Amino acid sequence: MNATAKNSNMKSKGKVYLIGAGPGDPTLITVKGLELLKRAEVVVYDYLASPKLLKYVPKEAEFIYAGKKGGVCHAHTQEEINQMLVDHARAGKIVVRLKGGDPFIFGRGGEEIEELVDAGISFEVVPGVTSATAAATYAGVPITHRGYTASVAFITGHEDPTKESSSIAWDKISTGIGTLVFYMGIKNLPSISKNLIANGRDPQTPVAVVRWASTPAQKSVVGTLANIAEVVKEGGITPPALVVVGEVVNLREKINWFEKRPLFGKRILVTRTREQASELVRLLEDQGADCVEGATIAIEPPDSWEPLDKALTEIADYHWIVFSSINGIRFFFERMNANGLDTRALHGQKIAVVGEATAEVLKEYGVIADLIPAEYTGDGLAKSLIDQGINGKKVLIPRAKKAREIVPETLAQHGADVTVVPVYQNVQPKGYEKIVAELESGRIDMVTFTSSSTVSNFIEMIREENKGRLLNNVALACIGPITAKTAEKKGLKIDVQPEIFTIPEMVESILDYYAK
Ligand code: SAH
Repeated sequence: MNATAKNSNMKSKGKVYLIGAGPGDPTLITVKGLELLKRAEVVVYDYLASPKLLKYVPKEAEFIYAGKKGGVCHAHTQEEINQMLVDHARAGKIVVRLKGGDPFIFGRGGEEIEELVDAGISFEVVPGVTSATAAATYAGVPITHRGYTASVAFITGHEDPTKESSSIAWDKISTGIGTLVFYMGIKNLPSISKNLIANGRDPQTPVAVVRWASTPAQKSVVGTLANIAEVVKEGGITPPALVVVGEVVNLREKINWFEKRPLFGKRILVTRTREQASELVRLLEDQGADCVEGATIAIEPPDSWEPLDKALTEIADYHWIVFSSINGIRFFFERMNANGLDTRALHGQKIAVVGEATAEVLKEYGVIADLIPAEYTGDGLAKSLIDQGINGKKVLIPRAKKAREIVPETLAQHGADVTVVPVYQNVQPKGYEKIVAELESGRIDMVTFTSSSTVSNFIEMIREENKGRLLNNVALACIGPITAKTAEKKGLKIDVQPEIFTIPEMVESILDYYAK
């Protein structure tokens, strides 16, 4: 294949997928849309497309925020967006253009595709759940119903009400169609209601206005054509919101399901250590809670490997290597390997670990611990070593940068020559500022703890001195007595604690707490 053929072949791969992200809940995207997101090389996304969907896009992809908040505050002009799609596709890329709801319903998807057709770019369009049907559904309103309406219309509420001649046939839609759904209609709601009433629709027609439909932030209000503008103003409903007009809105009283889930409107911070399964999050979300997942700790290599590297060059001089944590073992062996050494380098040393779990991890590296204390604590470890006769012995302790000094100090007091080397460090996890800011602004209703370390790490993260202020109006849930005891030691007051220490029982207790 010559260079040109290869080139044109590459170009033919370039394609744009215009995908509807659905209304807000990221799980409402289509299976096809999701599959394509996973293959994207460039993703161009709008304000209304759930940011949670971006985690499915490969990390190496190029992420471009196109803006489009409220139809005005654009990060890029429509022309720029069109051009970007063309350029990236021409460069041979798989381009995903991700839009809120359905791309062909008030999304300017048509314009973007026309541009692609003109430029000769291949494309596909993947429909999405449009916010009109989602808003009605999630507000408990069947958008059509045999007993109420035989027709439904999607209408823009964005039209300038001062415009001389409207492109909306108010005289026909007001009474000619059963259910009317207005997109982008919050600002113009007074004139929308006025137009409908002036054209013969009963002022008592029920109206629902739904903000951030299908998301945990959903808020909806109901009124009549006569008073809905007032109700919306009083309820503080701001865009993005949908206006649903028609008799079907009366069914909400009976069908309203989403907002009636027991934990709807509760924002719960689920603290976790690294890579913990999210069963708790799933169960809480099933009950309607809005979960914020907060890693309370992140682990990184130390700032410098010099101390360990030096110790490794002199490893033959040591008598004992002491591991008081799993991370200590992992980072130690990884670095040793990186330096071209394997376990044979440790043939002359005895190895002590703090407990069964550390001993198990040590085995993964082919090493059987010479000493496991009867009591799995730093104290226990130090005592056992002293019993072995530590006086005059050279001891290497690879461990966290910041850790309790009990082991090295006790050993030194008993005549050991102790070298402590940092092999990892605990750092503030990514996103912790966001969590602190959420607590700060009082948006968190509850914090859950599933282990003692989540409690300690959490307190470390928000800092001891801030806990009173940040947790003032926050309920605290613990999985069991040990976690609760740690929390109490840290001066926290526990509100929820199940009798059986499992995640499902913990969720039951949280439900009971809020049912009261
Ligand atoms: N293509 C989109 C609509 C884009 S127009 C779709 O099919 O849904 C933008 C308008 O959609 C907003 O002003 C608002 O009226 C509506 N909208 C989009 N997402 C919404 C949501 N989650 N809740 C309520 N309204 C929403």
